[in-house]
Amino acid sequence: MAPKCVQKAILLAKLVAYGFRVLFSGANRALWAKSFALTAPATIQPIDASEVKNVVVVGAAFAGYFAARSLAATLPRDGRYRLIIIEPNSHFNFTWVLPRFCVVEGHEHKAFIPYTPDFFAQAPPGMVQWVRDRVVSVGKHSVVLRDGDEIAYEYLLIATGSTVANGLPSRVGSESRENGIAILQATQARIKAASRVVIAGGGAAGVELATDAKERYPEKSITLVHSRQSVMHRFGPELQKGAMDALRQLGVDLILGEKVDPESADGKFITLASGRQVECDCFFNCTGQKPASGLMADIAPGAIAPSGHIRVKPTLQIDDDSLPNVFVCGDVADVQAVNPNSRIAGRQAEIAADNIVLAARGKPFAYTYKPEWGDEVIKLTVGLNRSITDIWDGQAELMFTHQEADPALMCGRAWQSLGAKPFEDTGDYPR
Ligand SMILES: Cc1cc2nc3c(=O)[nH]c(=O)nc-3n(C[C@H](O)[C@H](O)[C@H](O)COP(=O)(O)OP(=O)(O)OC[C@H]3O[C@@H](n4cnc5c(N)ncnc54)[C@H](O)[C@@H]3O)c2cc1C
Repeated sequence: MAPKCVQKAILLAKLVAYGFRVLFSGANRALWAKSFALTAPATIQPIDASEVKNVVVVGAAFAGYFAARSLAATLPRDGRYRLIIIEPNSHFNFTWVLPRFCVVEGHEHKAFIPYTPDFFAQAPPGMVQWVRDRVVSVGKHSVVLRDGDEIAYEYLLIATGSTVANGLPSRVGSESRENGIAILQATQARIKAASRVVIAGGGAAGVELATDAKERYPEKSITLVHSRQSVMHRFGPELQKGAMDALRQLGVDLILGEKVDPESADGKFITLASGRQVECDCFFNCTGQKPASGLMADIAPGAIAPSGHIRVKPTLQIDDDSLPNVFVCGDVADVQAVNPNSRIAGRQAEIAADNIVLAARGKPFAYTYKPEWGDEVIKLTVGLNRSITDIWDGQAELMFTHQEADPALMCGRAWQSLGAKPFEDTGDYPR
């Protein structure tokens, strides 16, 4: 086996090659989309309403919102297609900062990015329709909303992501910004008032919450319980060690190889699977994130993997030949990612959208998604001012540590990339 430094140099070269590959395929598709836009009529032609076909996107986060933008820019502009986006949340929930805003006060509003028509600036007027609701069932040709309305589709994109039973720090657990802000503030107050915080789950959310809480409140006891012998166990050994070192340096108590019984928290103690009791007046469960695939369970049971993800073909069509016009992307799609993330969701969003546009133009599907190790590069915060970026291909690993100056992390950039001005809230998407 080559020495470590050679393996790392090869990894770096592979990363550069991966970057070029992703850039090239993206640029190639963007060029193709641009050529469609340039040759397309600028305005929608009058057409009989009964002839208009709907492209329906369910869920507007990293997968659905970006897919919708791509569809808005490249669907035929002759009035034959309408793009309908269905999303229950009033604002885009920026998940990346939720562990941080459970601890740090005064920035929580930044986690809720307004959905804005400016994001769809390239769509002809009238093409995009926003529906603030939740899809409750999917049929072969239509979806049904919580309010009872039924919406027909020609093409359907499922981008429902994942859910957690326990809310923060992974999901807010509310559909409105106002409630979301109140829930985050209540969580900050809960940690502030506590003496002994116990966190179950040593994945990214658990590590970020534990390190932030301990750095902000060094006098409190913060305990992280994880079922394996190392936190971040699905990642490379260097990241595992980097995260463990950071936790220990800050003074977080680590209990490894143990599971928490979440039901046992009584305000004073919490019980572990071994029977051991740990003092605890504030408990967070950072385990149990699940793909939100329930919508497809009845209509395509064979496409639901044991993990709960929806199986997809490389074209990102659902893996069910009776539903050729249904696409799936983002966290809910079964691509066996070690680290499901927004980059993967975004890449899939573009590919699924472009295949839908090809079909709408009468052409065969041409684009495929292939999981790449480079998709799984991770950035992990380990305290209020420090983060680790880790690149791992299953053999070699490169790890970098950085100083973080902004307590709100990447919020400003996220707002801008979603077409919103930081941090001006323009309210709900106009309907
Ligand atoms: C705490 C935390 C930190 C993270 N940090 C990072 C990071 O630093 N970098 C990174 O790249 N990734 C990070 N991720 C991962 C990233 O957030 C996810 O990979 C990404 O959100 C997946 O996007 P998605 O659109 O597939 O799903 P989701 O973000 O889960 O969004 C799904 C959307 O679908 C909507 N929806 C669900 N069901 C329905 C329905 N029935 N009808 C209509 N709409 C519905 C939801 O309201 C939601 O808006 C983090 C995740 C967490 C939890």
